Amino acid sequence: MAKEERLKEYRSKRDFHRTPEPSGDRETMSEGPIFVIQKHEATRLHYDFRLEVGGVLKSWAVPRGPSTDPKEKRLAVATEDHPLDYAGFEGIIPAGQYGGGTVIVWDQGVYRNLKESEGQSMEEALERGLAAVWLEGEKLRGGYALIRTRRRGKDEWLLIKMNDEQAETERVITLARPESVISGKTIEEVAAGTNHDR
Ligand code: MN
Repeated sequence: MAKEERLKEYRSKRDFHRTPEPSGDRETMSEGPIFVIQKHEATRLHYDFRLEVGGVLKSWAVPRGPSTDPKEKRLAVATEDHPLDYAGFEGIIPAGQYGGGTVIVWDQGVYRNLKESEGQSMEEALERGLAAVWLEGEKLRGGYALIRTRRRGKDEWLLIKMNDEQAETERVITLARPESVISGKTIEEVAAGTNHDR
C-alpha cells in the first residue's frame, strides 16, 4: 500500500489548520526503523506505541502503558497509521479536534525486527499477528512481543516484555520515569505551559 493510501484515515480525522500535529508531507530520514511511545492525555490517558514499518508509523494505544515486567500483559488497541514525522510531536492538540489533549514523547529510539531471522518482514509478522522487536530506547530496552488476540471483534493486541536481561520487575517504569525524553517535562508541565502562554 502506498504511503498516501496508508495515511488517508489519519488525515481524514484531522484539520491541519487547527491542530499542530504534522500532516505527514515531510519524508523523515533516519538510521534504521524508529519506534516512539507518546504519552497522550486525551479523553482517557494512554500511551501510543508506534513502530516505523513501510514508511509509516504502525500504531497501538496502550491504556496502561508499557511494562518492563514479563508477567504483565498490556492491552494494545491498534489505531490508524501515523506519518513518520509524528514521532517528534509533543504539544497540545486543541480541544474539539481528534485526540484533543496533551502529548509528550515518553520514549524513542530505534528497533530491530526479531522475526527477521525466521525470514519474516515486520509487515509479515504483523499480518500473522505475532511480532517481536528489540527496542533501543532511552527508557525501554530489550525484546517486546506484540500478539494479536482479536477479542470482542476489535483489533486488539497484547504488548509483553520478553524475558531477557533487560527485564525489570521491581520498578514501574511509567511511574519512575514520567517525563518527556525530548523536553524533560511531565505531561502536566507541558499542559500547564501552554495555558501560561495564552
Ligand atoms: Mn493517542
